[in-house]
Amino acid sequence: MKDKSLLEAKQILQNAHNILITSHIRPDGDAVGSLLAIGLALLDADKTVQMVLEDGVPKSFRHLRGSDLIKKRPEGEFDAIVVVDCSDLDRTGKVLRKFPTPDISIDHHITNLDFARVNLVDTAAPATAEMLAAYIPAFGLKITRSIAEALLTGLITDTIGFRTTSMRSNALRTAADLMDLGPNLPDLYQKALISRSFEAARYWGAGLNTLEHDNRMVWATLDLEARKSTNYPGSDDADLVNILTTIKNTDIAVIFIEQHKDRVKVSWRARSGFDVSSVAMQFGGGGHKPAAGATIEGNLFDVKADVLKATKKLLNGN
Ligand code: 5GP
Ligand code: MN
Repeated sequence: MKDKSLLEAKQILQNAHNILITSHIRPDGDAVGSLLAIGLALLDADKTVQMVLEDGVPKSFRHLRGSDLIKKRPEGEFDAIVVVDCSDLDRTGKVLRKFPTPDISIDHHITNLDFARVNLVDTAAPATAEMLAAYIPAFGLKITRSIAEALLTGLITDTIGFRTTSMRSNALRTAADLMDLGPNLPDLYQKALISRSFEAARYWGAGLNTLEHDNRMVWATLDLEARKSTNYPGSDDADLVNILTTIKNTDIAVIFIEQHKDRVKVSWRARSGFDVSSVAMQFGGGGHKPAAGATIEGNLFDVKADVLKATKKLLNGN
């Protein structure tokens, strides 16, 4: 399927002049990096390109070239729409509401719904950025140093520094080739993954104070009060879930982030052998086998009870 779809995608991009590129709400490093990579490559090929992320660019990725070009809303008409690192249309927020079916989807989520005309989906790829490192040249476009920085950022973040169970040797080969184009890997690594604000560190503390465990499951809660008392400006978990996965003798980590009185964001992380995307899907979310998320309507107390029950079922294999 790949060759035919790749060729179709290449032709769509070649024939288009005015191209819209978008990705998912609450964008992570792979969403921003993949969007910038294909966006900059098309700009360099003299296309008119609009890069749009409904929630804008998180601070930790604003050093990437072109991030200042990313808008929150599309303006005008387009003759091609490309969606990267995004499993379904709902995940683009309102960006594509007034537009027809997207032309191209490039993604690696196991929960991808094949929502575009041409779907390039590789669920074995640890990051959409790894796919784009091969596709950009296949589309007849060039990977410059800035594009290599964007792609490396996608790879570093989705693999949490090349250490997730989704890692494969091709990701390291790809990273090596990208490094040869000039990027400073330790610097990109530090900016995207390591460096955090004082407030985020205190927010971690608030979350870690709530740690609980049961059998091989561990979970933490970040309620509205935690955000307020630490002055943390985001509505995410500041990547605290990655710390929960370091705790010994656990197979699944869950984090609950209260959004407002009746909405909770939930993130799951699992060791290999468990597919948390299946639980996330039960709650209207999605993701990958080892990492998934969902935004669930309901108060914190009820959502926690429902999610912990369903996750326990998965752990117990029924
Ligand atoms: P996180 O829990 O860090 O937000 O996301 C983990 C993985 O699950 C990411 O690949 C992310 O794209 C996916 N994910 C998170 N929330 C949702 C959701 O509400 N719907 C879908 N389809 N995927 C999600
Ligand atoms: Mn990704």
